[in-house]
Amino acid sequence: MYFVPIDEKYYRMRADELDARISAAKDALGDRLVVLGHHYQHDDVIKFADYRGDSFKLSQMAAAQTEADYIVFCGVHFMAESADILSGPHQRVSLPDLKAGCHMADMADIDAVEECWADLMSVVGETVVPITYMNSAADLKAFVGRNQGAVCTSANARAILEWSFDQKRRVLFFPDEHLGRNVGWEMGVPLGSMILWDPDKPNGGNTPEAIEDSRIVLWKGNCPVHQLFNAKHVQRLREVFADIQVLVHPECKHEVVEQADLSGSTGFIVKTIEEAQPGSQWAIGTELHLVNRLAKEHPDKFIVSVDPNMCLCTTMNRIDRPHLAWVMENLVKGSVVNEIKVADDIAEWAIIALNRMLDIV
Ligand code: SF4
Repeated sequence: MYFVPIDEKYYRMRADELDARISAAKDALGDRLVVLGHHYQHDDVIKFADYRGDSFKLSQMAAAQTEADYIVFCGVHFMAESADILSGPHQRVSLPDLKAGCHMADMADIDAVEECWADLMSVVGETVVPITYMNSAADLKAFVGRNQGAVCTSANARAILEWSFDQKRRVLFFPDEHLGRNVGWEMGVPLGSMILWDPDKPNGGNTPEAIEDSRIVLWKGNCPVHQLFNAKHVQRLREVFADIQVLVHPECKHEVVEQADLSGSTGFIVKTIEEAQPGSQWAIGTELHLVNRLAKEHPDKFIVSVDPNMCLCTTMNRIDRPHLAWVMENLVKGSVVNEIKVADDIAEWAIIALNRMLDIV
């Protein structure tokens, strides 16, 4: 992967010209191109996606695209890495803006996780299955592949944790503490049996006894977007709208999930709203672009954000029309810019962890 700056002329183009250029490039590339788009993308980007979904669905889509030469991923870096790992050797994956990272994924790195693993082994030996959330770098997926673990997404985290507990006594879950805690709680794991691992402290800030008693070791990481929702937001909504149903993503804090009516992945949120009764009222706790899109697409339902003042995912939204037009017009000329290529020695283990996930669910 190397950085090529965008041609600035794309920023001087009007929106309708960019739309026309992107459409023309798509037509010219035909079946040689597949555009994948995450639900959190801008409307003016996601409208060009051949497939839209959450990270789980998009990973399945990437694995299924055996014919296309090019995959343009409108999402964030770790998703494009997974697409590269799951796609064929002849296929090339582009991320329109390489600065589209994920703050949560950046909260765990391989050196810190290796250190945590060694510390855990010294206390409880071979009793731990490592599970990484999809929102992590490819070298962490390779780490879990090498150590008999798996990847999970918010759509399948429960199934993956159940599989893990069939293998061993405890789980090391990274990088999102909230998803791990919420899913563990839903499965009946007591909150006291889930310990937080702070990578900046010796033994993660835990005593050997606490580690021995634990069932889930939660890495201290979070999504800065979902973490902003709190229990007071839910309480205020219920005071104003007596019949509102609260539907949140499990990356939210436990106090929010505990008070919600429903919690589930981005795909679950979309499906729940699609199937909801006309006239029903919903407060949704996830990224604001998706909430606004659902409100627009379902005018027969009342839909608001759990917190209308929340921040957007700034990294996800670095993918914009100028970058998309620039990447696609380069593809038409046969040039792949902003290519995401995972090193072979990492990909060979990461694909084991990803395929384990796809086999379990
Ligand atoms: S919403 Fe949160 S977890 Fe998702 S890409 Fe943005 S920072 Fe990462």
